[in-house]
Amino acid sequence: MTQVFNFSAGPAVLPKEVLGQAASEMLDWHGSGMSVMEMSHRGPEFISIHEQAEADLRELLAVPANYKILFMQGGGLGQNSLVPLNLAGRKPHGAALGPATIDFVHTGSWSGKSVKEAARYAKVNVAASSEANGFTAVPPQDAWKLSTDAAYLHVCTNETIDGVEFNFVPTVQGDTPIVADMSSHILSRTIDVSKYGVIFAGAQKNIGPAGLTLVIVREDLLDHALPICPGVFNWRAVADADSMLNTPPTYAIYIAGLVFAHLKRQGGVAAMEQRNIDKARLLYAALDADDFYRNRVAPDSRSRMNIPFYLRDESLNDKFLAGAKARGLLQLKGHKSVGGMRASIYNAMPIEGVQALVDYLNEFAGRRVSP
Ligand code: PMP
Repeated sequence: MTQVFNFSAGPAVLPKEVLGQAASEMLDWHGSGMSVMEMSHRGPEFISIHEQAEADLRELLAVPANYKILFMQGGGLGQNSLVPLNLAGRKPHGAALGPATIDFVHTGSWSGKSVKEAARYAKVNVAASSEANGFTAVPPQDAWKLSTDAAYLHVCTNETIDGVEFNFVPTVQGDTPIVADMSSHILSRTIDVSKYGVIFAGAQKNIGPAGLTLVIVREDLLDHALPICPGVFNWRAVADADSMLNTPPTYAIYIAGLVFAHLKRQGGVAAMEQRNIDKARLLYAALDADDFYRNRVAPDSRSRMNIPFYLRDESLNDKFLAGAKARGLLQLKGHKSVGGMRASIYNAMPIEGVQALVDYLNEFAGRRVSP
């Protein structure tokens, strides 16, 4: 089989071991005579898969007992609607009558989409934005203009397109819950779940296949849905039904479970974080070596997962991508909204893949690098 390194932003590379295990269990899961895809979601086999996946995730992220883990559908974008639909009914003491206020920090494309969608259900207050400087840094917390009566604060802690990552947990006023879209960096670094009210993530980057959406929600936030919230997406109803309110994406949950078990064998999230630091350092050093390439993000906001970069001479873009492809370095084209290049180096990207990219970056730039 051809060796390739896949730098896609998502759906993205999965651990080879996981794919191998899934292949070996494809036709007959643990002597059941069935593929996981064929099992009833209410049968004992799938229930054991589901329970193990949830327990492993709880352990990996040290999710406190007063948080529910929901396996949902609808993707990260679905939660852009489902978070306000489930949480805009929360009215802090002293809040004005009428629609709730939701605070946002606008750090790039994905938080921008969240703001737009939430405006359909509530008043939105963009407490801070880095739009004026092209989304190249998380605005400093002391400049945020948070509301006193927000139902919650929404942040996207890793902007997949812009390559901007939070390196701190926001401080909020009173008991305002923080909702974090962690789609593109969940499980890549240790987090203190107790600092957040809700964490959500589409699975197709660091968790498993597309089609599964993870929602981690503190129990006291389950009961603030607006009356128009669709029943099947009501967090309380989903939680009470152990994510089996309707047929869940069973195969995606199974693969996610294999990924969680794999991460545990790798030493857990702290071990992955150290590897991710090493990988990102290697790649940024090559981009920063001279002005042949350029990453525009402020050093303290640079993402460890999604690294956009531009060639100084953009007329070389096609040549760069063709040369990369010829070396098995795939999916390096930047998002169409920002152009340039982007290397996504999720948990499952081995350091060898990053090294192969660095070697190519140096070669293409005509740099002499001592072996
Ligand atoms: N949020 C972030 C940070 C993302 O990167 C993405 C997808 N790239 C989304 C939300 C949307 O996710 P989905 O395609 O699963 O709806």
